[in-house]
Amino acid sequence: MPAKTPFTQPTIGDRERDYVLEALESRELAGNGRFTKACQSLLEQKTGAAKVILTHSATGALDMMPLVLDMEPGDEVIVPSFTFVSTANAFALRGVVPVFVDVRADTLNLDETLIEGALTGRTRAVVPVHYAGVACEMDTIMEIARRHGLAVLEDAAQGIGSTYKGKPLGSFGELSALSFHATKNITAGEGGALLINEPALIERAEIAAEKGTNRSLFVRGEVDKYTWVDLGSSFMPGEMSAALLLAQLEQENEINDRRRMLWERYHHALMPLEQRGLVHRPTVPAGCVHNGHIYYLMFTDGEAQQRARNALVAAGFNASSHYGALHNSPAARRFGRAEGRFAVTEHIATSLLRLPLFAHMETGVVDRVSEILLQL
Ligand SMILES: *Cc1c(COP(=O)(O)O)cnc(C)c1O
Repeated sequence: MPAKTPFTQPTIGDRERDYVLEALESRELAGNGRFTKACQSLLEQKTGAAKVILTHSATGALDMMPLVLDMEPGDEVIVPSFTFVSTANAFALRGVVPVFVDVRADTLNLDETLIEGALTGRTRAVVPVHYAGVACEMDTIMEIARRHGLAVLEDAAQGIGSTYKGKPLGSFGELSALSFHATKNITAGEGGALLINEPALIERAEIAAEKGTNRSLFVRGEVDKYTWVDLGSSFMPGEMSAALLLAQLEQENEINDRRRMLWERYHHALMPLEQRGLVHRPTVPAGCVHNGHIYYLMFTDGEAQQRARNALVAAGFNASSHYGALHNSPAARRFGRAEGRFAVTEHIATSLLRLPLFAHMETGVVDRVSEILLQL
């Protein structure tokens, strides 16, 4: 077996080492210290959020959403079936029913035309997931949400540095989640952030993040002592993670520019495959700027995808499918509801293939992977 080229890998340099050592040597390792605050204000600048709370994961940030909105068992949220489990699990954890709908065949994002058909009297929110860092059709989603009095909660786990009509992903919903997992563009190993764009929700979010206490009011001198005031949990990362994250966030433009360059190189090299009718390449709608998070191809069927994957693996390259249809999972059948048909989700569950892509990957990898695929 030839040595494997990784599928993804964090890009780590001197700044990451310096900041992590600095955090370690400061001996102030709990959450909410200097590095956490620096990350939060940098993210507020980048996204325009009224307030950012660093979390230990995007899953943590999603888990906070039903708490912050005081959702109740039996409430419903609309989620795409083509997504990571946390998009649905976060709500099911509070007894809220994830209602699954299909995604669009071009962007693989929540099909906005299916939202209104899935509404009931209990629907509280729509949860758009920006797949591969390419924006959902936000104008339409925001308009539908306003018209029906629904919250918009963005799963922008893959979306840092992407924009829709000039606005950063994560800046549309009342609340949004970012991920800094090791597989994402910007990483803390494990990490995430809750973006709060609706100022009225800041206090409730701080309570949820402070284990259900009003400790942040106490820290700011607004109350004499702190106590248990509402439901919450422990969502914060420690300072070591925040130090690593700050170094990464400060280099976001370089990291994302490099990923976009590699993405474009694949896109150009693989055009002939699309012209021969063997694959569909990703679609980036007008008005969307993406962050080069994932380069994928959609094959005509699962067999063709498997052939392509085998050819790449035999040559030492990792390539990977992505989400299975979540609405068909055992937990979704127990806790969720499937609305309508899922032709796109079920097709891409077997026919999508993600190609190796990370910021310090050599352009030669793109060239060799493309060459192998072009010989199919
Ligand atoms: C990665 C990811 C998550 C989970 O992120 P963690 O930080 O690992 O919890 C959630 N939703 C989507 C769409 C993701 O890609």
